[in-house]
Amino acid sequence: MAKRLFGLLVMLIILASASLSYAENDVIGLSLDGQSILSDTTAMIVSGRTLVPARAVFEAMGGVVAWDDARREVTVTRGSSEVKLIIDSKTAIIDGLPKDMDVPAAIISERTMIPVRFVSEALGYQVDWDDTNRIVNIKTLETDPLQLSITGIGFFESEQEYKVTITGNKRIDAYKNFSMSSPERVVLDIANGILGQISTPIIPINDNIMGIRFSQFDEKTTRIVVDLKKQIPASVSLAEDDKSLIIVFSKSRAPVDDQTGGGLPELVELAKDKLVVIDAGHGGKDPGAIGFSNGQSVLYEKDVNLDVAQRMNELLKQQGANTYMIRSFDTSVSLLERPAMANALNAHLFISIHNNSSDSSNLKGFEVLYFNKESDISSNIKSRTFADFAQTALVEKLGIAFKSPQERPTLAVLNKTSMPAIIIEGAFLSNPEDLALIMTDDYKQNYAMAAAKAIINALNASVRL
Ligand SMILES: [Zn+2]
Repeated sequence: MAKRLFGLLVMLIILASASLSYAENDVIGLSLDGQSILSDTTAMIVSGRTLVPARAVFEAMGGVVAWDDARREVTVTRGSSEVKLIIDSKTAIIDGLPKDMDVPAAIISERTMIPVRFVSEALGYQVDWDDTNRIVNIKTLETDPLQLSITGIGFFESEQEYKVTITGNKRIDAYKNFSMSSPERVVLDIANGILGQISTPIIPINDNIMGIRFSQFDEKTTRIVVDLKKQIPASVSLAEDDKSLIIVFSKSRAPVDDQTGGGLPELVELAKDKLVVIDAGHGGKDPGAIGFSNGQSVLYEKDVNLDVAQRMNELLKQQGANTYMIRSFDTSVSLLERPAMANALNAHLFISIHNNSSDSSNLKGFEVLYFNKESDISSNIKSRTFADFAQTALVEKLGIAFKSPQERPTLAVLNKTSMPAIIIEGAFLSNPEDLALIMTDDYKQNYAMAAAKAIINALNASVRL
């Protein structure tokens, strides 16, 4: 109570000095994009902040000013932005979120006076003070028409999934997404994006998604973070108009598909004689990455690669595909022999099955590597297209990707093969959760299913010309 009384007292002193300066004929002019704003009430400076008559100024901007007498609340809306100010309260509500300000709105001489800079900036304007002429210049924010601005974030829930949409004012050309743990989250970086005026969507209480944060990560990157309660499968895609990114979180992990290959697309007849070379990474004296648990080695990459490759080979054969395994046992095959074998066999597609490892135990999720070569053309499909089929199928079966498909021109199996080729890194053996997953039959089968699906889609696409 005493605090409120003190506030009132301070307010009265401020108002007294404000009217005093007015009395000295210290008139403050107002202009909007160079045009004077006329009003029967002049602006005034209170505690170093300029208060302006709300209605005259914000209606000149094309805004709507509403006054709620019972709540002593003024609401200024313009476009999709809304600023609510309560008389004598230093907390404003911008698009539903509270924000502190230095000087509250006040009623002076029966006019609602509001802080011009605070409200203008919230509505997307820039405010300059011309000290010589004592004019407050309100200007439409200069935006580069080529600049991508992120203007909206939405959240939607259905029975099967949650959907987060991130919308820009123009085409989104480049983005990357990755997942991070402790705490679980999905991060989406939008390149060449600046954060527009967006508000946090309301997220109903649920078991999976905690919240959505956004920031201008650096000068040219807008970062969106979806905080999760636990790891759930997520996929990121661009909407048809290229202006929105859609993150879909499925409420349950993809069920294990029927081991007989149910759920795989049908292989078209013409593609059945096209040879697919399957390369189970490492082998023999080369173990590949090693998974450790409590200081003990528990998994060699070469073994799990072969396991997945064999499962995939079975699925493909059931669909009538023509396949060749570079190795079917724990044998050593040199790195250069692998592409050489595929070339000698005149293979149509080449797929290498691997798993990942990193010095950082935080990294997790699958990754697809490719390299577009001129010689891809002989198979009617680019390595990147093959990689995209894999990315889509893996997201569907395994959940969160570590990255979008990565171009790797220096890897031998990608640059020495003369046909479209990809490498899939299924999981990180260096991440405890990924390691636990890749040791399960479910995960290995889903990995094999996704890879088989990518191959069938690529084969079908390659003969459909
Ligand atoms: Zn490997």
